[in-house]
Amino acid sequence: MTRRKFLNHAALGALTASALTAGRSAEANGEKGEMPLIVSTWPFGKAANEAALKILLQGGALLDAVEQGIWVTESAGDASVGLSGSPNAAGVVQLDACIMNGSDHKAGSVAGLEGIRHPISAARRVMEKTRHVLLVGEGARMFALEEGLESVELNSRERYDQWQKQRAAQRAKPAEKKPANHDTIALLVLGADGNLAGGCSTSGLGGKLPGRVGDSPIIGSGLYVDNEVGAAGATGLGENVMRYCASFLIVEFMRQGMLPHEACSQVIRRIMRSEPKGAKLSINFVALDKRGRYGAAGTDEGFQYSVTTPTSSLVLPNPGLGPSDR
Ligand code: ASP
Repeated sequence: MTRRKFLNHAALGALTASALTAGRSAEANGEKGEMPLIVSTWPFGKAANEAALKILLQGGALLDAVEQGIWVTESAGDASVGLSGSPNAAGVVQLDACIMNGSDHKAGSVAGLEGIRHPISAARRVMEKTRHVLLVGEGARMFALEEGLESVELNSRERYDQWQKQRAAQRAKPAEKKPANHDTIALLVLGADGNLAGGCSTSGLGGKLPGRVGDSPIIGSGLYVDNEVGAAGATGLGENVMRYCASFLIVEFMRQGMLPHEACSQVIRRIMRSEPKGAKLSINFVALDKRGRYGAAGTDEGFQYSVTTPTSSLVLPNPGLGPSDR
């Protein structure tokens, strides 16, 4: 399918999907949506959303919901999040994560973190226990260890051999379509009290240069939360997201009055104007606003996102870009 065909097709899909789910109907009508509301990237987000919702319904804090929701994906054995994620060009898994709280605009991030089971917890501790926002590499790892976070020996002989075998198997099948070697859980939460928070976690781009950091731990790129307006998160090729401060821009577009889907679409259009590579851009966004309206848009045909409220938990298709073009 060509890019234009996909985006047109997806715009039609958006209308169908909005007719199907209460939240999106609410969005289309400009009404208030159901709360608490949790929106995340990809189908793997659904289990994370449900864990987050459980915490909220038990009276837990928003940040606990974000952190423990993301734990689910970090522990799920996925090839793009957590220690099971894709290794870099040196065969080492380097993890990126961030967390942001809407009510006080605080944030914490870790990047290039090795051997820590839950990078989202390291990010939360950076936010809550230091004067800083972002810790990287060995410093982030030492901090996580000092905080008592669970660690795993990554550079074992066994792991290295396993990675070499994987690489040899990939090389043996050059004609096969390469599987996507990157994804991120970006999880946004709107509490029943109207407060917002969000987090991201990823192993980043498979085969990246050691030390490469993508959009996910960069506040404003992979995630942005503003209690006055809403929240947005990204998944896809970080290099195409972080040069545009895309999540920040989505929130700013919502501040100007756009609905979440419209704001995500508008940022994609903005990026496409400078980078006319269509679906190859691989940029996908989720967003929600303070009123409980949510949306998403992406250039990857297979992009899906998960939406959970007390009455439903759904995986929705990529609606593509909306019909309007401001
Ligand atoms: N955004 C992530 C990165 O570039 C990967 C992804 O979400 O697919 O590191």
